[in-house]
Amino acid sequence: SQKLSNSEKLYRQAQKVLSGGVSRNTVFRQPYPNYANTASGCYITDIEGTVRTDFANNMAALIHGHSFPPIVDAVISQLKKGTAYTLASEIELSFAKHLIKRVQSFERIRFVNSGTEAVMAMIKASRAYTGRAKIAKAEGSYHGTYDFAEVSQTANPSNWGNIDNPSSVPLAHGTPPCVSNDVVIYPYNDVERTLAILDKQAADIACVIIDPVPHRVGMVPGNQEFVEAVYNWTRENGALMVFDEVITFRVKYGGAQENYKVSPDLTSLGKIIGGGFPVGAVAGREEVMKVFDPHEKNLLLPHSGTFSANPITMTAGYTAMQYFDKKAVTKLNRITDGAIGQIREVIKLLDIPVSITGAGSMFRMHLRPTPPNTYREAYENQEVKKLINELLDYMYYKENILMINTFSCMLSTVMTQKEIDQLTEGLYRAFK
Ligand code: PMP
Repeated sequence: SQKLSNSEKLYRQAQKVLSGGVSRNTVFRQPYPNYANTASGCYITDIEGTVRTDFANNMAALIHGHSFPPIVDAVISQLKKGTAYTLASEIELSFAKHLIKRVQSFERIRFVNSGTEAVMAMIKASRAYTGRAKIAKAEGSYHGTYDFAEVSQTANPSNWGNIDNPSSVPLAHGTPPCVSNDVVIYPYNDVERTLAILDKQAADIACVIIDPVPHRVGMVPGNQEFVEAVYNWTRENGALMVFDEVITFRVKYGGAQENYKVSPDLTSLGKIIGGGFPVGAVAGREEVMKVFDPHEKNLLLPHSGTFSANPITMTAGYTAMQYFDKKAVTKLNRITDGAIGQIREVIKLLDIPVSITGAGSMFRMHLRPTPPNTYREAYENQEVKKLINELLDYMYYKENILMINTFSCMLSTVMTQKEIDQLTEGLYRAFK
């Protein structure tokens, strides 16, 4: 009889109770995913006892790695005082004050439970404020699983449509047609085409969503000219410019928006601001955030959530962000720049067509000699995807390094030169 690993045994059972054996496709792995046992700092150990260096950090959520002692201590003490109340809590206030001080465009904030929920609240707030139905988003960008945010994720180039008017293709089968009708797709960083597309629907657009460093579009930062052009367009046309900073908040102390001369009306947050616990938030201009305010006689957007701003998440998140101060952000970004520099040396040494994009403490590798500028350039066909999966498998099984499945890395503050060297040397052997 064949000898199964412990993870394989669990996965066989899991397939009988969880659809596909998992609750998130992100952890799905062929032939089976390994089951985690413990994690600490930059290391994660599975139930087979294999220790891996973690460059995924729960999809960019763990800015201080696993089980960061100050977070563990703070959460344990909060656990004893209760986990969620049908009352307000002081920690929610403290954390809100911290975030509002941190970012110039934040005047009011509301906490929710995931990035998906944050983007949904941001879209609904934009609609409530403007009284308009349509939203605009970048072709191929990921913003979570709200119906409207999910449009244009199709990996099939035959669905893209003309670049002057990219198709509004729903992701999930059976999505109501009204969803794609109300989502306008623009090509990222392409000022001329984007403005022409927006102009055609000018009177109906509630908001233009920009992820300042969209991961799935190619992790190429939005250029200054593009962001300013969109900002000016929204001022002229009574729409909002909103940023999805669920991933990119780590890029600068005040989020990736610090890089621009203009500020978004609203911002969605998630991932690192939860300190390892489920979180989301929408923050922005007071005048717009008023749509949530129950004092208003004519309340435009009733909003609640059983676990929103629960004291466990607030405690963990507030602790995480206090430790991710200006000095920590600078240090982490410098370590990341060093890692990218070392990987570029490997690329040069091996003379291979690989390029790197990213910002702050995140980067993505592309199997092409020059970095992609657009979503369509960043698109990887089946052949390229297969190669990337082979590289990822090599890194995972042979080098014991966990990366994000787009061939990306999200660093944490507890990483040192040792882990960077391990990554670089691993990549050298993988590429070879
Ligand atoms: N927006 C962006 C830019 C994201 O990267 C993600 C998650 N990867 C989301 C929204 C959704 O966040 P969540 O998975 O917490 O729902």
